[in-house]
Amino acid sequence: MLEGCVPWPDEFAARYREDGYWLGRPLGELLHEACVRHADRVALVSGERRMRYRDLAEASTRLAGGLLDLGVGPLDRVVVQLPNVPEFVVVMLALLRVGAIPVLALPGHRKVEVTHLCARSGAIAYVTMDQFQGFDYRELARTVREEVPAVRHVLVAGDAAEFTALDSVVSGRTDFPRVDPAEPALFLLSGGTTGLPKLIPRTHDDYAFNLRATARALGVSAADVYLAVNPVAHTAALGCPGVLGTLLAGGKAVLTTSVRPEEVFPLIRREGVTLTTLVPPLVRLWTDGAERTGTDLSGVTLQVGSAKFDPEQARRAQEVLRCRLSHWFGMGEGMMTHTRFGDPREVILSTVGRPLCEADEIVVADESGAPVPDGQEGELLVRGPYTVRGYYRAPEMNARAFTPDGFFRTGDVARRRPDGNIVIVGRITDVVNRAGEKVPTEEVEEHLRTHPAVRDAAVVGVEDPILGERSYAFVVLRDTELKLSSIKAYLRERGLATYKIPDRLIPVDALPHTAVGKVDKAALRQSAAKPVS
Ligand code: AMP
Repeated sequence: MLEGCVPWPDEFAARYREDGYWLGRPLGELLHEACVRHADRVALVSGERRMRYRDLAEASTRLAGGLLDLGVGPLDRVVVQLPNVPEFVVVMLALLRVGAIPVLALPGHRKVEVTHLCARSGAIAYVTMDQFQGFDYRELARTVREEVPAVRHVLVAGDAAEFTALDSVVSGRTDFPRVDPAEPALFLLSGGTTGLPKLIPRTHDDYAFNLRATARALGVSAADVYLAVNPVAHTAALGCPGVLGTLLAGGKAVLTTSVRPEEVFPLIRREGVTLTTLVPPLVRLWTDGAERTGTDLSGVTLQVGSAKFDPEQARRAQEVLRCRLSHWFGMGEGMMTHTRFGDPREVILSTVGRPLCEADEIVVADESGAPVPDGQEGELLVRGPYTVRGYYRAPEMNARAFTPDGFFRTGDVARRRPDGNIVIVGRITDVVNRAGEKVPTEEVEEHLRTHPAVRDAAVVGVEDPILGERSYAFVVLRDTELKLSSIKAYLRERGLATYKIPDRLIPVDALPHTAVGKVDKAALRQSAAKPVS
């Protein structure tokens, strides 16, 4: 396996193969076969653009050949930063086809994250677009080039300026290399708690299972139409079953970069959408939108997860939208649980259901790592055929994040009910879940402390009716005359991801501390929740 990855122990790998979880087929081949099988059907829709499976096969094959000509081949890492546009899918299929490893950056990532991802992954190429939502990614590419010289190729969709135009990377060759299905197919990013995103190597075998099993769980077939609202770079909209799982099944994937009901509802109707994945804040936005406009989404399954889904909100969504709800819990590292369509309403509204497959192992553990009885709270530890055994090139982190026998410590506090359904209670570790995007508080605090006028800083999540949680930064200032807005501008300038910029900055004389001398975040959360005087 690629150096820096942690393989499953042989006996586990053998069992997962024997039991049919791992098929031993590269993902690029499986997706290409789906393109050939469904050649005449529509594969992708984006605005007025429509691509049939045949077009997708052709475009991705030409690009795959072009990548090989450039010298991008098996196990080379390529950072991909594209929003929900067809190019994303073409690039993914092409990279998978040649066995190169896409490293999936989010559109909101900026200099700090993208240079880190390039350097940490050892990427030789960066694929991005000219502009999106007012941001010029070519500017970012210039910084990447300067700071990470190992990135030899910058491919840009749209106006490439001095870089290589993505659509010029084409070739007729089809002598594609043999791809080993036990190797990483892609690197997802951890929604992690400390520092910068960690790289999650997902193998062809495990991610192909991920696509098939989630599609099966939701009954996705060629008749289905999947709407990708959240960034496709995130595993929820990418492969659970998301766009790739839908394509593998021969269905149609609709991509949108708008989340607004006024734009999305007509699209749902026009394309006959049957399934979409939403974070809870979007469910709320859509429920309010539907109530205003008298729209209902009967015939659509809403797969909801990534953050706490309040039972009352779930009930209202079901009533107003008249949609089918499927409640999911999961993570880039793998493990997923979900409620079943036939489950009692109470289970769907107030639990995250049961694991995706029989080989998933779940332990709810106390602080010493010992299992607690059903009904009691503890940390959720998980292991299974699509849950990784380690992050890429991160032995020290792996020693903390995984138990000696290979369980991933999720950092989530859960309880298993006697009926087997899991309830997520909260998190052990410090992260703000802002509309499903995870903001590692320590990282933002470190950035804040680099500002010459900031003596100290503490970031907390505060409950919010729209985003689920908002990030509040309490700052102790050296210069009390300083305009707080200039601190936000400073963070932006440093190149911190957009969603990590604190929603509010609150100046304080000093940070409160607990008896053991830690910053008292509970007290800060409490004071943040108070109305502004
Ligand atoms: P990510 O890898 O970015 O998808 O983040 C995974 C984390 O999201 C999990 O460890 C949980 O903390 C959180 N999460 C995902 N689904 C849910 C859910 N249904 N309820 C509560 N938290 C969730």
